[in-house]
Amino acid sequence: MGSRDKKEIDMSEDRPIVISGGGIGGLAIARMLAFSGRRSVVLEKAEEFGEIGAGIQLGPNTHRAFDALKVKEAMHQIAWFPRDMIMMDSITGEEILRMPSGRSLTPFFGEPYAVIHRADLHAVLFDACSKMDEIDLRTSSEVTGYSESGDSVCVSLSNGEEIECEALIGADGLWSNIRSSILGDGDPVVSGHIAYRAVLPIDQVPAELGQWIDDVVLWGGPRNHLVHYRLRRGELFNIVAVFHSSRYVEGWDEYGDPDELYAHFEGVQAPVKALLDKINVWKMWVLCDRVPVREWSRGRVTLLGDAAHPTLQYLAAGAGMAIEDAICLAKCIENNQDNIVEAFKAYPAERYIRTARVQLTARLYGDLYHAEGVARELRNQLLGGKKESGSNPYAGMAWLYQKDSGQPGGI
Ligand SMILES: Cc1cc2nc3c(=O)[nH]c(=O)nc-3n(C[C@H](O)[C@H](O)[C@H](O)COP(=O)(O)OP(=O)(O)OC[C@H]3O[C@@H](n4cnc5c(N)ncnc54)[C@H](O)[C@@H]3O)c2cc1C
Repeated sequence: MGSRDKKEIDMSEDRPIVISGGGIGGLAIARMLAFSGRRSVVLEKAEEFGEIGAGIQLGPNTHRAFDALKVKEAMHQIAWFPRDMIMMDSITGEEILRMPSGRSLTPFFGEPYAVIHRADLHAVLFDACSKMDEIDLRTSSEVTGYSESGDSVCVSLSNGEEIECEALIGADGLWSNIRSSILGDGDPVVSGHIAYRAVLPIDQVPAELGQWIDDVVLWGGPRNHLVHYRLRRGELFNIVAVFHSSRYVEGWDEYGDPDELYAHFEGVQAPVKALLDKINVWKMWVLCDRVPVREWSRGRVTLLGDAAHPTLQYLAAGAGMAIEDAICLAKCIENNQDNIVEAFKAYPAERYIRTARVQLTARLYGDLYHAEGVARELRNQLLGGKKESGSNPYAGMAWLYQKDSGQPGGI
């Protein structure tokens, strides 16, 4: 196989690094390792590499990470750059907050804000990885466990196969079984919030949405919110409705019950109602996170992305954190060429404060979006009001978006 990104190395004697999980984080670390000539085997339990049909928002920090992965141009070709970021009160119809979005963030952070279909993001990474000789991508390969002895790790698969490797990276998401072995801290924390999602072709979007069609809009209501924005160069329209529910199902791709959804969105403004009425089939998932931890490596095994620090989606930053992890981990491995254990110690030490801030801030944002009663009135007052022209409307997000604000390798 030809490789544009291949570095000249002698790989005859290397043992690979095994990556459990071929999601966004797993592919990102495989690519970063390949840049420094490290071989990896990516084991994905699904029958095909791919992602579910929903949108992902990409803050400026994520675009810098795309640069490091050499995939920014391809991502920008398929992404959508929204006009404004708007928060509406879904009961009164009041516009609470409006900030310029998309390329308007570039003067402040050097990179824009964009939204992308998860499947498109994943496909760009997959395509980039599949062109690299150093990466062995395997499907239908479920990792069930591992054992570590001396300077190697033996990874077990559900099909009975065993792979001996130099190290193991658990990029196996929220329900990571590698995390159970390393940290043994039980199941993820169920937030009591549930997300319903649907994607419409743009020409099927109800006329009531016309004035907001180019924006990212969040309609906040009592114990619920709904977000919509365009995807895939603007050809699709992404809708995510979130509400409080005690239901618990594992997985990202379950069918939702539209009646349950409508009951939670009673009394909402016409545009929100029109969107809900338009869609018959919803997919749902239960929102979970975990309390932040300081360490997530043990010996030659470590975690990455949601396996290490799963977050609620309210800050729209989880995928960005998984990709930043990949850049940081690859750098730590390069700085500790002959000592993977030291590299795996250094990596969470560099990452845990930033990822913990994402996890904890996301919880606060959830409360803010779903505020009811006096809290809702107060939210609308605090967030409203005129902003000084020329000032950075996203100054409060500088800790996340700014270059050198704690990201690895000066990104
Ligand atoms: C509703 C919602 C909205 C979101 N919106 C945003 C957003 O706007 N912006 C953003 O940045 N982030 C967002 N996120 C977060 C983002 O989706 C995650 O942080 C990101 O997908 C994490 O990537 P990952 O690779 O760590 O895990 P995953 O994407 O979960 O990938 C894990 C992979 O591992 C595989 N796997 C699992 N177990 C095994 C096993 N035993 N063996 C082999 N393979 C295995 C899985 O099949 C999967 O392919 C959102 C999340 C949710 C729930």
